[in-house]
Amino acid sequence: MATPLSLPGICWPLQASTGHLAVTTQHITGHFRAGAGEDAIIVCDLLPAGKFRNGAARHWCRTHQCYWGTQADVADWQATRQMRCRQHASPMGYVLYPALFDPSQFHATTLSLAPDGLLQLRARADDGGALLARDAAALAIDCRALPGLFPPDVVQLNITPPAAQAFTAALQAGTSLDCSDCARCGHPHLDLGSFALAPHRRHSCGHCGHDASHSATAIVSTPLWRLRQRYAQWF
Ligand SMILES: [Zn+2]
Ligand SMILES: [Zn+2]
Ligand SMILES: [Zn+2]
Repeated sequence: MATPLSLPGICWPLQASTGHLAVTTQHITGHFRAGAGEDAIIVCDLLPAGKFRNGAARHWCRTHQCYWGTQADVADWQATRQMRCRQHASPMGYVLYPALFDPSQFHATTLSLAPDGLLQLRARADDGGALLARDAAALAIDCRALPGLFPPDVVQLNITPPAAQAFTAALQAGTSLDCSDCARCGHPHLDLGSFALAPHRRHSCGHCGHDASHSATAIVSTPLWRLRQRYAQWF
């Protein structure tokens, strides 16, 4: 296979129960056929994440949102000399060169999810009042303009289709929403899939793989909730 490319981009697993929106780099590394799609093969981003219950060392794949370290994973590593998670070949959703929105430069900002699944961003520039209108599958919020909202190593908050869909569905259903931060790395936790439908107290971190952060009450957690506390017209 060709050498993977590192480009500014947003990617997301097509099936996952957690996600990683508060990223510490603008770049993703993988194989892309177009500027956006659902067929990217993205390189694993593995980091040590404690141990399995049986005592075996465990890693977390930030890219594919799954643990590494089962006997099958270790056997694959020994056979291929590549440390890669079981989802390494799964196609992923992606947008390259996404819009990076700096909320501190605009006012009257609205963000919504259209029936066709696109995010609709509308805002007026503070400087000159020009209307910004952007429809995109995914976009990034510049966190340098939002000090205190997320840990200082977060450069941008990626709004992905699964995160936007889960959030709007939870808002419509009246689900108990909040944003729980990881007890180990402080990154905001995102629930997806079945976890976004059923409030719970124990959360597993999409950034570092720590799986024992507890919220005070049973909630569905998403960093989009914290953005909405500041920007009431979002979603
Ligand atoms: Zn992986
Ligand atoms: Zn959770
Ligand atoms: Zn964490």
